Amino acid sequence: MSGSALRQDVVISGGGMVGLTLAVALARLGLGVTLVESQKAEALTAPAFDGRASALAYANVRMFKALGIWDALEPFAQPINDILVSDAKLGGQASPFSMHFDHREVGAPLGAMAENRHIRQALWQTAQTLSHVNLVTGASVIACDRTQTGAAYVHLSNGAEIAASLVVAAEGRESFLREDARIPVVAWDYPQTAIVTTVEHEKPHNGVAYEHFLPAGPFAILPLPGNRSSLVWTETKESAPRLKALPDDLFTEELERRFGAHLGAVKPFGPRWTYPLSFLLARSTVAERLALIGDTAQGIHPIAGQGLNLGLKDVAALTEVIADAARLGLDFGTTAMLSRYERWRRFDRVTLALGTDAINRLFSNDSWPLRTARDLGLGAVDAVAPLRRFFMKHAGGDLGNLPRLLKGEAA
Ligand SMILES: Cc1cc2nc3c(=O)[nH]c(=O)nc-3n(C[C@H](O)[C@H](O)[C@H](O)COP(=O)(O)OP(=O)(O)OC[C@H]3O[C@@H](n4cnc5c(N)ncnc54)[C@H](O)[C@@H]3O)c2cc1C
Repeated sequence: MSGSALRQDVVISGGGMVGLTLAVALARLGLGVTLVESQKAEALTAPAFDGRASALAYANVRMFKALGIWDALEPFAQPINDILVSDAKLGGQASPFSMHFDHREVGAPLGAMAENRHIRQALWQTAQTLSHVNLVTGASVIACDRTQTGAAYVHLSNGAEIAASLVVAAEGRESFLREDARIPVVAWDYPQTAIVTTVEHEKPHNGVAYEHFLPAGPFAILPLPGNRSSLVWTETKESAPRLKALPDDLFTEELERRFGAHLGAVKPFGPRWTYPLSFLLARSTVAERLALIGDTAQGIHPIAGQGLNLGLKDVAALTEVIADAARLGLDFGTTAMLSRYERWRRFDRVTLALGTDAINRLFSNDSWPLRTARDLGLGAVDAVAPLRRFFMKHAGGDLGNLPRLLKGEAA
């Protein structure tokens, strides 16, 4: 600790989509925030940095609207009207059992798709307009002293020191602050890699997202503005590099075997990316003057497109806990205050992390007893309207005790 430390209310380590959203939310409360990001902002928002697109649950779209982020993102977003899930085999033989989630049953879109580069851009743009946010890029958090009374002292790789009531780790799965606090995790690698790319297709998608469960893993076709879709094509980790490197004509052939004919002719468009898949669940999300959010708290399989959504829900809950304490003049950095955040998020994060893991294990294989069981399960959910509505509300992030931001209200 030195007398020259900048004093802030909150330091956020990590300027990914989750950390940036928290910076905007806290600045809107009038709190002083420093966000530290190892990479330069230009690198993070460059088209080549992140080829993924994200399905944003509708509750998170409401939060983006409440935080003034949505205006910058809306021109690039595609509403998700329907979701069609089917158990399929290579060559397009879908099982007769499938699930159809239709937004008309819940009276609102199920969510919105947007390319991550546009989400990142909208978040940086918004954060830069807020005078309460101090953005430090190209520097990392390298040490944190949480032993002093009243503040944590954060040290950056550029030599700066910042004192804050609370430090938030939004550092992704490899987190310095989580390890520094010795918070244990449960973690493993999946024998799967996701190939991500964009395709153009002949026919309009009408806002329908498709998920085909194939033996190597899920194959998701996610609608983007125009006649374009983002693909998340899960393969075994051995075959993914070979498929990614195929010349265009052979790659298109492999795509067509998995795609089906519903969108007419398909053409790959732009670069291909691969993402190795893994699971991580932190056993706790708080310690004295420290909170974990986003992939630092839980990193899950993308089978249900919920990783970022969980992280954004962490943001909404943590913001409300901080806002309520700050309004009463209380110190929101103590473990006693932060335990409300931990309790609020525990059920949702653990259930979704383990649920997505179980779904991936159940669907990513070709065993016929499992195929029969899961087809009956899909058929049953599809046949029972209240069950369908339950899953749709879950996909839209509308279940449970929602923080105010997720209802579209101010925190
Ligand atoms: C193929 C695929 C498809 C997906 N699709 C979806 C989807 O449709 N919907 C959905 O909800 N989720 C989806 N996800 C999950 C989602 O992408 C992640 O959950 C989300 O990107 C995590 O964001 P984050 O901000 O928590 O972490 P990250 O994006 O990992 O950001 C962490 C940031 O912290 C910085 N950092 C790390 N350490 C330090 C330090 N010490 N000091 C300073 N900075 C630091 C890093 O540079 C990085 O920028 C998908 C994931 C994959 C792999």
